[in-house]
Amino acid sequence: MIITKDKTAQALMDRVQELSGVDLSVCYQCKKCTSGCPVAQMVQYSPAEIIRQLHLQAGDELLDHEIIWACASCETCTTRCPMGIDGSAIMDALRQISLEQNKASQAEGKVALFNKAFLKTVELFGRSYEIGMIAAYKLGSGKLMNDTDKFPTMLKKGKLAILPPTGADKATVKRIFKKTKESK
Ligand code: SF4
Ligand code: SF4
Repeated sequence: MIITKDKTAQALMDRVQELSGVDLSVCYQCKKCTSGCPVAQMVQYSPAEIIRQLHLQAGDELLDHEIIWACASCETCTTRCPMGIDGSAIMDALRQISLEQNKASQAEGKVALFNKAFLKTVELFGRSYEIGMIAAYKLGSGKLMNDTDKFPTMLKKGKLAILPPTGADKATVKRIFKKTKESK
């Protein structure tokens, strides 16, 4: 792996630490996070390698790495770390910065679009609404007919609800979204 020292590096490291609340300097590269990560084998760089790249002053190139988008936020890395490093929060921070700077590549951009579609339905309905999310994703990606053959079976088995969810505390959820946007 070749890491090019980048002038954006310190700013990126500071922002990741600020957003995640993690002190990256305490990571001593034991790799316990990586050995439990369900996606580490499928991506180019593992959670421990991402942290090491931050230590070694990699800059905005980090914002396009697959793991940022493949991360399932399962928090296995967080629970395994002997230093209490919240790896899941680091991935969240990198995702947020990547979106802000429009750095996700085309493939990863689809995951970003999926994320946005999911969050929009939570903001509107107070909890996730799968059909709304699918519609927003399909409109955004232009892949209107992909996987539509599964739709009738999912409806029949009760895996998708036609109507939006009810009973959520929409006002509180909207307030959380508003505060989060204001704090950016
Ligand atoms: S488990 Fe913690 S200390 Fe070990 S490599 Fe991962 S983040 Fe660093
Ligand atoms: S939260 Fe993400 S990086 Fe951490 S173990 Fe789970 S998938 Fe891997």
